[in-house]
Amino acid sequence: MKEFTLQTGHRDEMLDITAHVRKAVEEEKMTSGIALIYTPHTTAAITINENADPDVPVDILAALNRAVPPAAGYRHAEGNSAAHVKSSLVGASEMVIVENGRLVLGTWQSIFFCEFDGPRTRRFIVKLLSH
Ligand code: ZN
Repeated sequence: MKEFTLQTGHRDEMLDITAHVRKAVEEEKMTSGIALIYTPHTTAAITINENADPDVPVDILAALNRAVPPAAGYRHAEGNSAAHVKSSLVGASEMVIVENGRLVLGTWQSIFFCEFDGPRTRRFIVKLLSH
């Protein structure tokens, strides 16, 4: 497995990590299998979506903030319940097929690290499962 560290710069942010995942696949010389991208945090997430238009991640974060407001009578004393909820809604991992040594992504798809309680130093892991 390969572990990456990144520094987020805002409370809510989506960072394109596709190049990191691609590098992990190339370094392992993997030709066919699955790349599992996982983050071991409770207020962050991994997702796949469009990055051709940078307004798409902005819209996703805005919609999540409308659906899960920062303050809504939450009980969790740390004060970051909205971030926990968003983390569970989006999910801690994604899987991408690897074929002929390449990530099988659509033209407009990128893999994003989603920060919901930044800025922080964060980690994500890429585990390659060959077959
Ligand atoms: Zn918390």
